[in-house]
Amino acid sequence: MSASFSTTLPVAPEATREPIQAVLDTVHARNPHEPEFLQAVHEVLESIAPVLEQHPQFVEGGILERLVEPERQILFRVPWVDDEGRLRVNRGFRVQFSSVLGPYKGGLRFHPSVNLSIIKFLGFEQIFKNALTGQGIGGAKGGSDFDPHGRSDAEVMRFCQSFMNELYRHLGEHTDVPAGDIGVGAREIGYLFGQYRKVTNRHESGMFTGKGVQWGGAEVRTEATGYGAVFFVEEMLGRHGDSLAGKRVGVSGSGNVAIYAIAKAHQLGATPVTASDSSGYIVDDAGIDVGLLRQVKEVERGRISEYAVRRSGARFVEAARPWEVPVDVAVPSATQNELDEADADALIGNGVRAVAEGANMPSTPEAIEAFRRAGVLFGPGKAANAGGVATSALEMSQNAARQRWSFDDSEAKLRSIMKDVHDAAFDAAERYGHPGDYVVGANSAGFERVAHAMLAQGVI
Ligand code: GLU
Repeated sequence: MSASFSTTLPVAPEATREPIQAVLDTVHARNPHEPEFLQAVHEVLESIAPVLEQHPQFVEGGILERLVEPERQILFRVPWVDDEGRLRVNRGFRVQFSSVLGPYKGGLRFHPSVNLSIIKFLGFEQIFKNALTGQGIGGAKGGSDFDPHGRSDAEVMRFCQSFMNELYRHLGEHTDVPAGDIGVGAREIGYLFGQYRKVTNRHESGMFTGKGVQWGGAEVRTEATGYGAVFFVEEMLGRHGDSLAGKRVGVSGSGNVAIYAIAKAHQLGATPVTASDSSGYIVDDAGIDVGLLRQVKEVERGRISEYAVRRSGARFVEAARPWEVPVDVAVPSATQNELDEADADALIGNGVRAVAEGANMPSTPEAIEAFRRAGVLFGPGKAANAGGVATSALEMSQNAARQRWSFDDSEAKLRSIMKDVHDAAFDAAERYGHPGDYVVGANSAGFERVAHAMLAQGVI
């Protein structure tokens, strides 16, 4: 699904409209076939006008012109041989967007839809998300159009080894530190890390995050994105004297983010009632059984309809999205542009109070605008799903210090980071004259940190 762009800048005062528009024009001219990247750039640039107004040095210093151009882009061939002995060729990507605050940091996505536009939108978002965590990590993203679904473990291993045979030379704990994303979980990370270790002859723990807890991985990293998104909802509601207890929660997706968002919603006294995959969604008014969902999606790698077959009272709705189900809180945790204006209207019509993006850019610009108009609390992915990468930074700290923190300590740290992320976005929104607007707040707070560092470090 593609999104459209408005040509006017909604929150831009006169003095900053022109430089922002000039950068947008250049980005459109240079990247005409990259709709997702253009969408991500629009969202950020359209909301930071008040920051530029207060800091004209960011305009004079050419911060925007530089930020929209990745520091480095690596595109490569990934040849491998399938179980039938046939040669396959996929495309590999790593877009290293910004290292001004720390080593490049961001996940790898293996999915047939992956192309340069998708990786660039994700890498661009990652700059500001990572800055917002307050930790020393730059922004990057990578991946491949390889589809692990339906592939044997041996095929996935051969693919990962071939992928790393090229990418290893661009990585390192002080250079670029990947992690997982869609299609890259514990299995893939193991094979990728193993091949890096072999070709470099270094057991460099901090060069990858999301590792198995037995070999350098951090406790809570697996759960962190989903847990963090739900903590973010709790913070948003808390500002209004409300909480998750007793609320119905709609979640989309059934991967790592969705599963742990559902688990944490249960723990905080809410009832998560939906989950989905590309075939449709399930609704379970008694509350999703996390153990069964994990069995179906993670262990058996099956279709989500199987959940409804095995669970009485649950039903499967084919070829539809879960946003038609009445909920108080929505946590879109599947993929980009999975929630459009009609979905937003359906949620609003059913009285949704808060939305937190567990996935990256799941809401279209029109959907975000609808939530804004209706006064729905809206936590954009850059803030709401920052718990994953924040816990990756905790993994890097533990690796550097050769320490291992307990699950409870790590979860407490994640909880406090999500509060800080929330407060940074909330405060920036107030400071820049858009109280309650977490899109303006998250983009402004992240951008400020990056822009100050870029100015200090000169024209690089
Ligand atoms: N892929 C995740 C994200 O979108 C995690 C990145 C990381 O841990 O480096 O933020």
